[in-house]
Amino acid sequence: MEFFDSHAHLDDEKFDEDRDQIIKKIQKSETTKVISAGYSIEGSKKAIKLSEKYEFIYSSIRNITKRHYTNRRQNVERHRKNKRNNKKIL
Ligand SMILES: [Zn+2]
Repeated sequence: MEFFDSHAHLDDEKFDEDRDQIIKKIQKSETTKVISAGYSIEGSKKAIKLSEKYEFIYSSIRNITKRHYTNRRQNVERHRKNKRNNKKIL
């Protein structure tokens, strides 16, 4: 059986010390795809990097584009551009 984790926070600082080890454990499990949802701009950047590093990880940045739209327009525009150019950003 294959599992798809549709909402994880692999970018969370709780994983800063052992993130790669945890991701390797996930890789060895029956989980074949993970969406890492960033809940801040920095977290979203980390999620995007994880999706670039690991084939089975995708990133979601939707929350930041809504929350930061009015006061962080440049960041939002950059993320939207990334989203268009990177098929692993959902
Ligand atoms: Zn969440």
